[in-house]
Amino acid sequence: MFTRLYLHIPFCRRKCPYCAFVSQEPAAGDLEGYGDTLQAEMGLAAQAFRAERPLKSVYFGGGTPSLLDPRQVARLLQQAETLFGLGREAEITLEANPGTVDLERLAAFRAAGVNRLSIGVQSFHDPLLTILGRIHSATEAKEAFQAARDAGFANIGIDLIHALPDQTLPMWRHELEQALALAPEHISVYGLTVEEGTPFAARYGEDSPLLPDEDLAAAMFEEADDLLTAAGYEHYEIANYALPGRRSDHNSGYWRRDGYLGLGAGAHSFLRTGYGVRFGNPADLDAYARAVAQGRLPHQDVQTLARQDAMAEFMFLGLRMADGVDKNAFRREFGAGLDEMFGREVSKLTTLELLETAVDRVRLTRRGMLLSNQVFAHFLP
Ligand code: SF4
Repeated sequence: MFTRLYLHIPFCRRKCPYCAFVSQEPAAGDLEGYGDTLQAEMGLAAQAFRAERPLKSVYFGGGTPSLLDPRQVARLLQQAETLFGLGREAEITLEANPGTVDLERLAAFRAAGVNRLSIGVQSFHDPLLTILGRIHSATEAKEAFQAARDAGFANIGIDLIHALPDQTLPMWRHELEQALALAPEHISVYGLTVEEGTPFAARYGEDSPLLPDEDLAAAMFEEADDLLTAAGYEHYEIANYALPGRRSDHNSGYWRRDGYLGLGAGAHSFLRTGYGVRFGNPADLDAYARAVAQGRLPHQDVQTLARQDAMAEFMFLGLRMADGVDKNAFRREFGAGLDEMFGREVSKLTTLELLETAVDRVRLTRRGMLLSNQVFAHFLP
């Protein structure tokens, strides 16, 4: 049913004005209580669902998981080991905000079993960090990176955002150069999306002249591709670059439709049964904690996928990866050929130079990566 575990930590020291993730500022005692609820939910889930032992990956995402007490992370990992098994090679990632970690805490996370760190740097330019409402400076981000190395992390990713207010192409190039100077194993590069309902949406409405236009945003995407691949990083997914052998295994599992169990407020799960079942937990912390305290799994919005839904997902998730969709894997999964099911769409998108096809696979072109949402829309049922 699942081989991967996701734990959502919905707390941040301060809410960033562009953020639409499930997160809030914690009150006293919230984090400790929440860790206990996660443990209780894991126990309930283990009774209800079967993991294919051992787990391949565990991911602490948020929010800001680095606010957790490392002892709590250790307890959660020990419980995951007992209930589901953790492979010796399992990738165990924790997202860290540079404003919340020091050498001691990072060493304690490492000792707890975390073997991969994803640091939310976002920018190395202090004025942009201020606009983003981040709680750390560029110097603190660099110090957090070095502290992570000193704490023994040999697998570190950093996140950057481009297409920020008043950002120019030379500014973005400088961001990338500073990221490369740190030599992380993994770099994620996201374009800013102005999410509805956030303070950013009020400040930078649609087509705001304060934001880079489409052409400049595209140039920034291409700049990242050029610079990072020239430095030896594989551009293995639309927004993700890795040194050889350092792709995010957990996230690759999402794009390959591996089953995963999501724990915590606002977490989503995907279980491999039939063509797949998706469901989520309530984002509301009280509703989530109440259900678990009553001994109930707080699942809602349960969606049992039909064959057509699963085929569409297989395409638009698989196409996110530079390797693209393997035609043989499609046939193994659905007992039908990709050309037979999506021949018309693939041929149209190939003519538009958004897809390229080989005998055994279909993948996005660089232009297709830039316009990926338009491509994916063609596969929706
Ligand atoms: S730290 Fe990350 S999750 Fe938290 S508010 Fe900022 S962007 Fe959102």
